[in-house]
Amino acid sequence: MTRLDQIESVHDRSGNRAIVIGAGLGGLAAAMRLGARGYAVTVIDRLDVPGGRGSAIWQDGHRFDLGPTIVTVPQLYRELWAACGADFDNDVDLRSLDPFYEIRWPDGTKFVAQHDSGKMREEVAKIEPRDVAGLNRFLRDSEERYWFGFEDLGRRPMHKLWDLIKVLPRFGMLRADRSVYAHAARRFRNAKLRMAFSFHPLFIGGDPTHVTSMYILVSYLEKQFGVHYAMGGLADMARKMADIVELQGGTLLMKTEVDKIVVRDGRAAGVRLKNGLDLGADIVVSNADAGHTYTDLLPGKKRWTRARLKRTRYSMSLFVWYFGTKGTANKWKDVGHHTILNGPRYKGLLKDIFMKGKLAEDFSLYVHRPSATDPSVAPEGDDTFYVLSPVPHLGHGGVDWQAEAETYKARVLKVLEDQMLPGLGKHIATEQVFTPETFRDRYLSPYGAGFSIEPRILQSAWFRPHNVSEEIPGLYLVGAGTHPGAGVPGVISTAEVLDKLVPDPVKTP
Ligand SMILES: Cc1cc2nc3c(=O)[nH]c(=O)nc-3n(C[C@H](O)[C@H](O)[C@H](O)COP(=O)(O)OP(=O)(O)OC[C@H]3O[C@@H](n4cnc5c(N)ncnc54)[C@H](O)[C@@H]3O)c2cc1C
Repeated sequence: MTRLDQIESVHDRSGNRAIVIGAGLGGLAAAMRLGARGYAVTVIDRLDVPGGRGSAIWQDGHRFDLGPTIVTVPQLYRELWAACGADFDNDVDLRSLDPFYEIRWPDGTKFVAQHDSGKMREEVAKIEPRDVAGLNRFLRDSEERYWFGFEDLGRRPMHKLWDLIKVLPRFGMLRADRSVYAHAARRFRNAKLRMAFSFHPLFIGGDPTHVTSMYILVSYLEKQFGVHYAMGGLADMARKMADIVELQGGTLLMKTEVDKIVVRDGRAAGVRLKNGLDLGADIVVSNADAGHTYTDLLPGKKRWTRARLKRTRYSMSLFVWYFGTKGTANKWKDVGHHTILNGPRYKGLLKDIFMKGKLAEDFSLYVHRPSATDPSVAPEGDDTFYVLSPVPHLGHGGVDWQAEAETYKARVLKVLEDQMLPGLGKHIATEQVFTPETFRDRYLSPYGAGFSIEPRILQSAWFRPHNVSEEIPGLYLVGAGTHPGAGVPGVISTAEVLDKLVPDPVKTP
C-alpha cells in the first residue's frame, strides 16, 4: 500500500477524521489538540516543511529562521504540550533574553528594554525624566488589559454576538476605542518613548495608530513572562509539534496543495487536492489565511464574500533580507539579538505604509541576529542576520517588487552600514530576499500581507472570521486570520479556542 493509499483508507472511514489545511504553527497546534481528542488527523501543506511562516531555510551553512523570532508567554506552549501528554521543556530549549531588545534612533539615542523594573525606569529617565511616572501608570494599564484581553477574551470562543455584547461595557471602561499609540501618548510626553511603548502591534501586522489599545498588554506580558528564544529556531519547535502529531497517529502530507473544501449535504465533507484526489473528513480545519479560505477554497459564501474580503483591511507586508556574514562573530559585538533601528519618522511612516500604501524613501528596520544566542544558525566565526522592513501590502498597487527589490535592498544596506554594521557589504557570504510577492506566492497570503487581517477593533474578536465557520457546518478556522489573531501566542490560542468548539469524535469500532 502506498502512503497516499494509506491516507485515503483512513479517509474512507467516518466519525473521527479531521483534515487540517496548513501546517503553520496554528495548524500544528490544532492538529495536536485534535489528535489528543482522538481524531485521526491529516495535516496538508504545500510547503516541504512544517511551520509555515515559522519555518526555516538552510543555505550555505546558515539557517534563516524565516519569520517569528520572539517567543513570549511560554506557559501557552507548556499547556499545549501538556494537553497532549508531552513535556514542552523536554522538546524545546527556551532561553530567556535579557535585555529583551534595543531600540535605536538616528541621533544616537538608545533604549534598552529589559526585565528589571529599576533599570527600565533608568532607561526612561535617560530620555525624559518626567516620563518615569508615566511608565508606572502604563504598566498598570497594560496589566489590566492583559487579564481581560489575553487571558479572558483571547482564549475563549468569540463567535456569538452575545459574547461580544457581554464584554462591550468593559471595552468601554478600558477605552478600547483608543489606539495603542494614543494610549502611549497619554502616558509619555516624549516622542521616542511613545514609539518605544507603542510599536508592538507591528509584530502582529497592526498599525499602532489604529490598533485597539488592548494591545498595550504586550508590555506586561514581556515584563511578567520574559522574552525568549527557542534554540534551533521556531522551525525546530514546529518540527517537534509535527512529531507529536505523528506520534498520536496523525499524518503530515507536505508539498500538497488543497484546491477546494468539499461540501456535501451542506457540510464540510473533506478536501479536493490540486492533484485531483478527494480526501473525506468529518471536520475540516483551515489554517490557510481566512481570506484565501473564503475566496479560493470555499464556493458560495454568505458572510465572507469576495466583496466583503475586499473591504477588509489587511496587515502590512514585509521586505525581509536574510544574510549570512563571514568571519564577523567578533566584529559587531555591540549588536544584540533583537534591535529596532528607527528611521527619522514614526507616525508619518505608518501612514505611508498602512493608509497611503506608499513605499516611502525612509524606513524603520528590525534587525535579527540569532547568532548572538544560538551558535547553530551559522558556521563557526560567522553570523546570521535578517533585517525586516514593514512595507505596504500588494493591494495598494504601484510597487513592482521584481524591479524594486535590488534598489530597496541597497538602501537598507546603506542604513545598516552607516548606523549599525560598518563594512557589512563586503562580509556578506550568502543571502535571500522575501518581498510581498514572496508572501503572496509562498503562503498564499492575500495581497502578500505579512500577518493576515489587521487587528483593528472592528476586525477583532466577533468581527474576525470566526473559529467555527459561519458559512458551513463542519468547517473550522485557526491561525492569524481568525480569533484572537496573529503572532505565535495568538495562533496557538486559536487552537485552544478550536478545542472548545469541536465535538468529540465518534468512536469507530
Ligand atoms: C517575518 C515575520 C516575523 C515575525 N515575527 C514574530 C515574532 O517575533 N513573534 C511572534 O509571535 N510572531 C511573529 N510573526 C507572526 C507569526 O509568525 C505568524 O502570525 C504565525 O506564525 C502565523 O501562523 P499561522 O498558523 O496563521 O500560519 P502560517 O504560518 O501562515 O501557515 C499557513 C500555512 O498554510 C499553508 N497553506 C495555505 N494555503 C494552502 C493550501 N491551499 N493548501 C495547502 N497548504 C496551504 C501555507 O503553505 C502555510 O504553511 C512574524 C511573522 C513574520 C512573517
